[in-house]
Amino acid sequence: MSKKIKHCCDSMESIVNTTCDMHGCDCPDKFIIFSEQFNEYGIKIYGTPAVSVIDFCPYCGKKLPKSKRKQFYKTMKKLGIDTYKDKIPKKYRHYGWWLK
Ligand SMILES: [Zn+2]
Repeated sequence: MSKKIKHCCDSMESIVNTTCDMHGCDCPDKFIIFSEQFNEYGIKIYGTPAVSVIDFCPYCGKKLPKSKRKQFYKTMKKLGIDTYKDKIPKKYRHYGWWLK
C-alpha cells in the first residue's frame, strides 16, 4: 500500500476513493479517477477505457498538482525500460516515486 494521498477537497477525496466493492469496477459514479503513477486526475469517458485529464478540480476549483507523466516517460527512457514491453519497476507505479 502507498501512503495516504491528500486531495484538494472532500468531494474529490470521496470520489477518487470510491471503491469497487461498493459499485463494481466500471461504476459510472466514479467518473473521476486519480492516477498515482502519473499524479494525474482525469474524467472517465463512460463506456470507453479513455480518460480525459483535468487541470482543475470540478468541485472546489483548485488547480490540481502537476502531472508527472512526462517525467515518468523520461525516467523510464533513462533506465532503458520500454513501457510497452518491459515490466515497470514497482516503485515507479506508486504515488511519490518522483520524490525519491
Ligand atoms: Zn477539489
